[in-house]
Amino acid sequence: MKIKGGKPGKTLAIRGDFDALAIQEATALDYKSEIPGAMHACGHDAHTAVLLITADALIKYARELNGDIIIIHQYAEEVSPGGAAAMIADGALGGADAIIGGHVWVYEKTGGIAVPSGMSMAGRSYFKIIITGSGGHGSQPHKCVDPIVAASHFVVAVQSIIGRSVDPLDSAVVTIGRFEGLGSFNIIPDSVTLEGDVRIFSESVGRLIEKRFKEILAGIAGAYGCSFELIYRDDYPPVINDAGLAEFAKNFVGADPGPGLKLYESELITGSEDFSCYQQKIPGLYVFFGAKPETPDGVFYPHHHPKFDIDENCMISCAKFYAGFAAEFLGNYDK
Ligand code: MN
Repeated sequence: MKIKGGKPGKTLAIRGDFDALAIQEATALDYKSEIPGAMHACGHDAHTAVLLITADALIKYARELNGDIIIIHQYAEEVSPGGAAAMIADGALGGADAIIGGHVWVYEKTGGIAVPSGMSMAGRSYFKIIITGSGGHGSQPHKCVDPIVAASHFVVAVQSIIGRSVDPLDSAVVTIGRFEGLGSFNIIPDSVTLEGDVRIFSESVGRLIEKRFKEILAGIAGAYGCSFELIYRDDYPPVINDAGLAEFAKNFVGADPGPGLKLYESELITGSEDFSCYQQKIPGLYVFFGAKPETPDGVFYPHHHPKFDIDENCMISCAKFYAGFAAEFLGNYDK
């Protein structure tokens, strides 16, 4: 949706995601999910609400805006290959000069805002491997080629990429989240399926890991007499914030006590976001909003947990930032 400003000027896009996760919600909240096995366990429902509040405020003040606003509600952030790329291909950016977006963050109190400059979140590659041997009776392993043993050696060996091949001053993650070999206690299965992902903060580390990953897989499968099939694909690039936008946003937060926001420093986040797809087209800024729930015992649950919840007051803080930043950007950003 486009909000036409009263005066000509730049165009700013504001993006929120709205998808849920395949988790059975275990909260007792009156607004908990009514759909079995689906839950807003990352706060994307809050992102949607914030974007609606922001749009409502900007529509009211549209005559005073020195330019236009594009509101982007994006689907499928949580699943590879994500909704951003397809929405960009469909023209969602509509000639915007810059884009902002953000995420609620339960580790910080409401009112805290992190505005990272440069590298902020990891890029991600997805992989799926099928290691095939030759199944048979569990009592006769010498007449089989056991893919479980081969896959197990691969799972252990692949971790040596981080420890032995990646520069200790760089960071990366290799995770195998699925290991499936449908045998039984007395059956050696024909094949094993592995799935997982790789998180990186630089293209060169990503390519190094991919190269070593393929060498180790081919070596181990070969050593154990197995064959393999591999899908290895890059999906989300790293989130890299535009330095000019970050500085402008920090000055805005520092100078305007109205929204009651306070800057905090965010560490590099090994999570990934397809907001990075927009940043490959135009300068973009992705921020984090404190949303820690106030509970009597101080206990709160992380993102993607069945009991995840946020402090709902954070939504007003977020919306004030988006609307205030948008007006300020259209009026005074000169890069
Ligand atoms: Mn999320």
